[in-house]
Amino acid sequence: MALDLGLEGKVALVLAASSGIGRATALRLSAEGATVVIVGRNEAKLQEVASHGANIHPVVLDLASDAVADLVPQVLAAHGTLDIVILNTGGPTIQPFVDATIDQWDGAYRMLFRPVVTVARAAAVHMAARKTGSLLFITSTWTKQPAPNSCLTATFRAGLSALVKLLSLELGPDQVRVNQLMPGTTATDRMETQISGRAERNGTSIEAEFEKSVAAIPLGRWARPEETADAIAFLVSDRAQYITGQTIAVDGGSIKTVF
Ligand code: NAD
Repeated sequence: MALDLGLEGKVALVLAASSGIGRATALRLSAEGATVVIVGRNEAKLQEVASHGANIHPVVLDLASDAVADLVPQVLAAHGTLDIVILNTGGPTIQPFVDATIDQWDGAYRMLFRPVVTVARAAAVHMAARKTGSLLFITSTWTKQPAPNSCLTATFRAGLSALVKLLSLELGPDQVRVNQLMPGTTATDRMETQISGRAERNGTSIEAEFEKSVAAIPLGRWARPEETADAIAFLVSDRAQYITGQTIAVDGGSIKTVF
């Protein structure tokens, strides 16, 4: 018998869904029969995503803006409920700590942290009242194993990791599950930009940096965003009903620690 994820008829909100992992996740949830609200800044890109699935509803919004506070009320007004939230964001610039300006730290907070907390809080209130729901934070393997030049992402995401565990404790009694997925190196626009940045910084070629990144991954290749989306769909589904407060890496084995 096929594994039914039980996502049919659920309402899901996916942040930063116009490309990469967010896009693949929206399409996977839609293919499983969920109604999916997708959020991004570029209307044409969101429409392109929506054209590939059923019941996908774009909301054009800059997640770093104050308008993010209206997002959950808007979803509830349009769809009546909210079962699943994928707390995904864009990633910040990658650079040495000494080069990162205080403005960039402020910007990273506004992009990586503030919208996640704002949306999680509004969704948690609704989900706790209904005694059901799933929040999934998308962070990075750098949360657990920081790499040089990852100060902006590793630092804020470590804070989100603490929040995931804390929320699983506070919201567990209301049957709201809270988990974190750490993508490893995944073939998205972001990764393409990072590889060219590394080549420039190190005075090497894009090909050399690509080979170096692959050599550090036990499975010997980058992830496809669709593979990450498969894990996300499982974690927010009814087949993961006893999983909460957990951090799962989809990284081809890149993190080398036992726990
Ligand atoms: P991506 O660049 O392909 O997609 C990110 C999306 O976020 C883009 O569509 C972008 O337009 C959107 N976005 C950025 N800022 C926004 C804003 N202010 N408002 C609304 N939308 C905004 O990136 P991805 O590779 O899919 O990464 C998704 C997340 O996963 C990021 O947070 C990234 O740091 C993390 N991650 C990615 C990798 C990887 O190898 N790709 C590895 C570890 C962690």
